[in-house]
Amino acid sequence: MKPAPFAYHAPRSVAEAVAVLTEVGHDGKVLAGGQSLIPILNMRLARPGHLVDVNRVAGLDTIDVGGEAVRVGALVRHAGLERSDEAYAALPLLRQALVHVAHPAIRNRGTTVGSVAHADPAGELPAVLALTEGVIEAVGPRGPREIPAAGFFRGPLETALAPDELVTAVRFGRLPAGTGTAFLESSRRRGDYAVAGVAAAVTVRDGVIVAARASFVSVTDAPAVLDVGPVVGRVPPVAADWTAAAEAVRAFVAPEGDIHASADYRRMLVGELSRRAFGEAADRATAAAQAARAMA
Ligand code: FAD
Repeated sequence: MKPAPFAYHAPRSVAEAVAVLTEVGHDGKVLAGGQSLIPILNMRLARPGHLVDVNRVAGLDTIDVGGEAVRVGALVRHAGLERSDEAYAALPLLRQALVHVAHPAIRNRGTTVGSVAHADPAGELPAVLALTEGVIEAVGPRGPREIPAAGFFRGPLETALAPDELVTAVRFGRLPAGTGTAFLESSRRRGDYAVAGVAAAVTVRDGVIVAARASFVSVTDAPAVLDVGPVVGRVPPVAADWTAAAEAVRAFVAPEGDIHASADYRRMLVGELSRRAFGEAADRATAAAQAARAMA
């Protein structure tokens, strides 16, 4: 099928884009990489009267690595972020997650910000943004505003963004020294959306675990972060009971069944993935701490 008719707008600046979005209100949709929006339009699951194509807007295609965050502009493609060695060095979890997003052709066109704005519970990057306590930068007719990830995701494909607002960038928070991360997921075929997935971060200080948290893919309505620190306790990584942490994950998630997997299967799967991801993250945290000691 082809999309229902729409008016096409190609603004050259953020101000122009916001002006169009303000004028058309709920009848408008931002078009970024189009990898989620175009299939939705083709299937006529949405029929916006106006498409605001932001691909020609200047200044939105940069990745900035700062001390506190990795800032990703609205036109940075998944593939660009995946290839950025600077972003990887600052926050390895980004590349660990991005390799699971669809296929390379889709990552070449789809944007990381579009994935956040789309808020699909099966998306990898919303989970990473939540785990890193990231921030969404948006601009609307009332000016710019920053929305913490915790208040942005409201449900499947639902966010705190108003129809007249454009996301200009997202900031993934950098994690404390001594943190190791891992991203694991399982899908029916490589590149498919995950049946279940997990992003895990474990922080080790002075030889003991001081933080262990995770967020999930395809098993919660919106990205949600679970702190398993109290379950694991302040123990050396080798003594950590990741099986108990996995039990806490199973109790926390709220998966739904569909044609790909039952709710029970997803719950079982995300628990096992979490057990492994926490273990991997803890190993990386230990290795990072050893490397830092060797350099000192
Ligand atoms: P678009 O499709 O252009 O837009 C998506 C939505 O976000 C629209 O509602 C749009 O209005 C809104 N939007 C986009 N940018 C902005 C902005 N700057 N401000 C405000 N609103 C905005 N994704 C995954 O995470 N994991 C997967 O495994 C995965 N598999 C896929 C497999 C296939 C076959 C396909 C076609 C897509 C898959 N995707 C997957 C989706 C892909 O990652 C998309 O790139 C991403 O979800 C949306 O980015 P986009 O730039 O294409 O956004």
